[in-house]
Order: sequence, then C-alpha cells, then structure tokens
Amino acid sequence: MGAVIKPPKAVMTGPVDTHLPETGHGFDYDLIVIGGGSGGLACSKAAAELGAKVAILDFVKPSPQGTRWGLGGTCVNVGCIPKKLMHTAGIVGERLAESYHFGWNVVEEDAMNELSAKKEKFSWERLVENVQNYIHGLNFKYKVDLRSNKVEYLNALGEFLDAHTIQATDIKGNKKKMTARRFVLATGGRPVFPQEVENAEQLAISSDDLFSLDREPGKTLCVGASYVSLECAGFLTAIGNDVTVMIRSIPLRGFDEQSATMIVSHMSDHGTKILQPWAPSKLTKVGEKIQVDYYNVNTKETASDTFDTVFFAVGRYPDVKGLGLENLELKLSPSGKIQVDEFERTSVPHIYAIGDIVAGGIELTPVAIQCGKLLATRLYNSSTKKMDYINVPTTVFTPLEYGAVGLSEEAAVSKYGKDNLNIYSKSFNILEYQLPHREDQGFVKLICVKSENEKVVGFHYLGPNAGEVTQGVAIAVKLSATKQDFDDTVGIHPVCAEVFTTLRLGQTEDSGC
Ligand code: FAD
Ligand code: NDP
Repeated sequence: MGAVIKPPKAVMTGPVDTHLPETGHGFDYDLIVIGGGSGGLACSKAAAELGAKVAILDFVKPSPQGTRWGLGGTCVNVGCIPKKLMHTAGIVGERLAESYHFGWNVVEEDAMNELSAKKEKFSWERLVENVQNYIHGLNFKYKVDLRSNKVEYLNALGEFLDAHTIQATDIKGNKKKMTARRFVLATGGRPVFPQEVENAEQLAISSDDLFSLDREPGKTLCVGASYVSLECAGFLTAIGNDVTVMIRSIPLRGFDEQSATMIVSHMSDHGTKILQPWAPSKLTKVGEKIQVDYYNVNTKETASDTFDTVFFAVGRYPDVKGLGLENLELKLSPSGKIQVDEFERTSVPHIYAIGDIVAGGIELTPVAIQCGKLLATRLYNSSTKKMDYINVPTTVFTPLEYGAVGLSEEAAVSKYGKDNLNIYSKSFNILEYQLPHREDQGFVKLICVKSENEKVVGFHYLGPNAGEVTQGVAIAVKLSATKQDFDDTVGIHPVCAEVFTTLRLGQTEDSGC
C-alpha cells in the first residue's frame, strides 16, 4: 500500500472513528502503535487480544550523554523501576544503620550515619549492575509478552510519510514502509536541558543517564524541585553522596504546600543541602569537576561551586522528534504536546495519542497504561468508557515518602472556599523509629467539604510505605468516602495508616503507639 489517503475533515461524534471499514480496509495492519513504553505496550497488547492485527515500534534516541536502553520505555528503563530500586537502596541502608537497636550486631549504628562510613560499605557499581540486570530481564520479558500476544514488534523509529503510512527505520538505517488503518502515538517525553544554562546539555546528566552511570555520582548538584530531582537527591544522599538540591521557586509545585515543605525539611535534616531560591546560569569543566555558576532569583546575587556530577531534573519535553508530524495536520499544544479530545483522538480522526505525550494529561505510568487499555477496548470492543483523570493517586519516593490523592489544601480552598472545608491534620510517631530514637514523625491530612457531608477531597500522607497506604485509600476517595466513613472504619494496629481512622479537628499531635 502506501497511497496518500487524506483523512476526512469531519468532526466525529462517537468515541471511535468510523470513516473507514474495520475489515477489508486494505492496509497492512489494523493498528500501528508508535512507542513501546507503558502506554504503547498496554494498548497494543489489549488491541491484539481483542483480535486486531497490531504492530508496535519502539526506538530509543540516545541521550546527549549517549545512554541508550531497551524495550519498555521510560518507566522500566530510566524511570519508576530503577528509581524505586535505588530509593530502596537508601531505605535498606537506613534499616542497616538502625538494626543495631533491634538486636543485630551487624553494623555500628553511629558509624553508618557518617557519609564516609557509608561510602566504605556501599558499592554503586554493584547496585547499578543489579538494577540493570533486572531491567534487561524486563526488556526480554516485554518482547516475549508481545510475541505471545501476537503483536509484531519492530525496534525502529516510526516516521509518518502520510496519514496512513509510516517509515520504520532501524538502528542500521534499514527502512520499511508500513500502512495501518489506525495509529496510536505513545512516544512519551525526554528530560529537558534548559537552553539558558550554558553547557547544561554538554556537561550535565539527566534521569536518562543516572541509573546506569558507570561511576558513583559523588558530590552532586540536583537542579529542579519536583518528583525526579527530590527522589534522586534523596537516595543519592542516603547511599552516601554529598548532594545539593537547587530550587528556583517552591518544591513540588501543585502538591499540598505544607506537606511539600515537610518533605524538603526532612531531606535537609538527613543531610541533603537545599539551595533556595537559586538557579544555575553556566557550567564549566574544570579538570574532572564541573564548576556551576548560579544566582539568587530574587536578589540576583551570584555564587559558584564545583561538583562531580550535575543532574538536571527540570521537566520533560514531548518526544515528537523524527515522528514526521509535519506530514500530518495534527494539532499540538503550545508546549508541543499532542492535543486530544476526551477519547484520546487527535485532530486527525484515525490517529490517537496516549501517555506523557498528551497535552493536559498526567505524566504517570498507570495513567498511560489505563489510557492505552481503555482506548483499545473502545476501538475493538465497543466500549465507551473513557479515562477519568480525577483522583489519580501518586507517591513521591523521597526518603520520607509522600502519598497523595485528590486536592491539595490550596486547590481545595480555591475550589470550595476556606469556610466550607474541615481540614484534619496530625503529626504522628512512627513505631519502627522509636527504638533507634529517630525524631522523624509522619504527617497526615484529610481535606473534607462541609457542605457535601464532609466528603474527603484531599488525602496526604507522609510516612513509610506511602505508596501502599495511598493506593488503598485512593479507592475510598474514588468512591466519595466521607470523614464519617473514615471514622467508622476499624483501624489496623499498630500501623501508621490507622491514624486516618482517629482524626479529630484541632488535634494536631498524636503520641502514636
Ligand atoms: P514512555 O514510557 O516514555 O515510552 C515512549 C517510548 O516511545 C520510548 O521508548 C521512546 O524511546 C519511544 N519513541 C519515541 N519516539 C519514537 C518514534 N518516533 N518511534 C518509535 N519509538 C519512539 N511514573 C509513576 O507512575 N511512578 C513513578 O514512580 C515514576 N517514576 C519516574 C521516575 C523518573 C526518573 C521519570 C523520568 C519518570 C517517572 N515516572 C513515574 C513517569 C513514567 O515513567 C511515565 O509517565 C511513563 O513512562 C509514560 O509512559 P508513555 O508510554 O507515555 O511513554
Ligand atoms: P516537573 O515538570 O514535575 O518539575 C520540574 C521542576 O524543575 C520544577 O520544580 C521546576 O520549578 C523546575 N525547573 C524547571 N525549569 C527550571 C530551570 N530552568 N531551572 C531550575 N529549575 C527549573 O518535572 P520532573 O522532571 O521532576 O518530573 C516529570 C514528571 O514525571 C512528573 O511531573 C511526574 O508526573 C513524573 N514522575 C513521577 C514520579 C512518581 O510518580 N513518583 C517520579 C518522577 C517523575 P518551578 O516549579 O519553579 O517551575
């Protein structure tokens, strides 16, 4: 095939494009998915399971530092999975240091709290090797999964030649034309290196490089104040590096501000240096080190310091490079993301987009997966169900983990008005921290709307296992649970999350167990 077929301009009314037949359409495939990350893999497998003839293309453009990886996208290779494993390395180190108080004669607790002692006891190379071996196993498993789901996989870059034809180019430059009745774009995002910071792209690394770095990062500057920067700064500190986080404005923009402030002060108490409100202006190579010139964004005062590693985590740009979108009439948002309607349809009726590439979406793996599966069932199983972006839970894996679902206090006040809210918040002791005499406390907050029977519209939890706790509570919030429902729920003792069953207005401290 490969003929230029101009898509109709008609606006669709249903969840599925119907301008072409589902069978006998004459294209090579029913569906081609471009991008083999969280969203693309989920969508392609679900569509194939429902009987569609599907191909998926995945190709990783090397990072500016030359890092490449295998099938599975950001989450598996350079995101959630290596990040959570390295976060765990930090937690394991903490536990090791505390084990003395639980009777173990394994390490001298005080010595383990010193950076130099941690360095002696910790092997970055072994951690990276084990993490990478695990990831390689997942890369292989994803290939097998695709094969057993009858999805044809090509390790090739997809580029649109016209609205129904793509060119797949593999790493050796071999090219193949492929046509399909429908396409799903799931090409995700890549880390930004700010253009205004001289030599940032040449001398710094990003999350694309960190988890496979062949040397210990050492003295590290983490630029940025959201998930990636804080999570990576947290575990790098915990495993014994001298780490500074450079925050230009506020930490964790969009999160509950009180909770975000507590996260950063916990990091600061545990050895991460915080520079706020500062931003870098220039990087210069000085021998093996990198000199960073930076400035105070309020006073314009300048300063400089040298680091072994400079790590930029200042957001991600949509990865549309090389997709050939200029050959389509496809609408992009001002930030370059793909505009879709509530059914993930782009402005070209038979081309859909899911995951991080979508304008107005949420950059999280389970969101990309859910969108991909729902799209496949709408396309190939007559479903009309669409993605619900309300009450998507999330967890920031900083050393003190932070789980949240629903609104921050600031967003709730602006939506419902301060007088219409009851805000229950409390610090609590963590039982496991008591024998090692750790002073860190957990913190919880429930935001309830008075005029709606105290419906819970915001949940915030700082403490161990925040992801596990928040995942459970998210179901209750999704089901419109009220404060009374939380009160009526019997706690599990002795766990941190039981605090949610005993919250009272005005009671801000709990002695816990
Ligand atoms: P991706 O997973 O990015 O996949 C896109 C794929 O398409 C990539 O393999 C890309 O190389 C490929 N591609 C691009 N262009 C082309 C082309 N033209 N042809 C062929 N292939 C192409 N989310 C969470 O929920 N929990 C976490 O703990 C978490 N931690 C994270 C930690 C870090 C450091 C980062 C960076 C992200 C993290 N995320 C986390 C976010 C999560 O990884 C993303 O939301 C998710 O991977 C998005 O999936 P996707 O399918 O949209 O894109
Ligand atoms: P975000 O877009 O979330 O945040 C960018 C951060 O960088 C902000 O703090 C921003 O500050 C700062 N920043 C932007 N530009 C500059 C600059 N030029 N100089 C200094 N600072 C700058 O990006 P992330 O890379 O942290 O994360 C991307 C997405 O990946 C997240 O939004 C999240 O959805 C997902 N993710 C999820 C995780 C999880 O679920 N645990 C973990 C990691 C990532 P300002 O506020 O001032 O703009």
